[in-house]
Amino acid sequence: MIIAANLKTNLTRKQTTDYVAELESYLKTNNITQEVLVFPATSSLNPHAGDVIIGAQNAYATQNGAFTGEIGLDHLNEFEIKTILIGHSERRHVLGETQEELVKKFNFYKDLGFKIIYCIGEPLEKREAGKEEMMKYISAQYEGIDTSYENLIIAYEPVWAIGTGFTPTLEDIEAIHTDLKEKSTAPLLYGGSVKVTNAKEVLALQNVDGILVGSAALYAEHFCTMIQYAQDLQK
Ligand code: PEP
Repeated sequence: MIIAANLKTNLTRKQTTDYVAELESYLKTNNITQEVLVFPATSSLNPHAGDVIIGAQNAYATQNGAFTGEIGLDHLNEFEIKTILIGHSERRHVLGETQEELVKKFNFYKDLGFKIIYCIGEPLEKREAGKEEMMKYISAQYEGIDTSYENLIIAYEPVWAIGTGFTPTLEDIEAIHTDLKEKSTAPLLYGGSVKVTNAKEVLALQNVDGILVGSAALYAEHFCTMIQYAQDLQK
């Protein structure tokens, strides 16, 4: 299974180094065979050799250039990063990235062979508008995306569940994952208020191939517990 931590705008470079070292030690000591990914803040990226895959939370669709505040391929190459998160709800809804911009970014990093974790998910008003409206909204997030890209991982993250402590019911997660699997056979993660107390049940669901965890992953010990749940499930 795939267990991913989005550290967002948290943990300094020193804290991230310690965090990743703790994960590496856990993976080795416990013979973990799951795919573990960590997305640190950009300024906390470091060269890394080990089993944990380090990815970028964001990068612009460019090698380099005049894009103030952004980083490009040159900066990822410096740390040998070949994994990127694209379409996270905070980038769509807080930072205003459009589907068009995301497609451009997707294609740029796809052409370079990056592993892409592409996030989708509906805001609360779309969920409350009924299944048809909700699926229409989610389907639009697939527009322009090569859903058969071999290095694609999709993360279904309802916007209203991110960082709120609210989650869909297990039945709802399973139902939507089953629908989403018809759009792409790429591994499909669930994200949105996953924590130690609910991760085991979520991971056990059919068509859930892993989890993307934000707040609860900030504690290495908690994240390791979730990794262990995945390992024990032997899915
Ligand atoms: C996320 O940011 O991708 C996320 C799932 O956050 P949280 O676990 O805090 O809801």
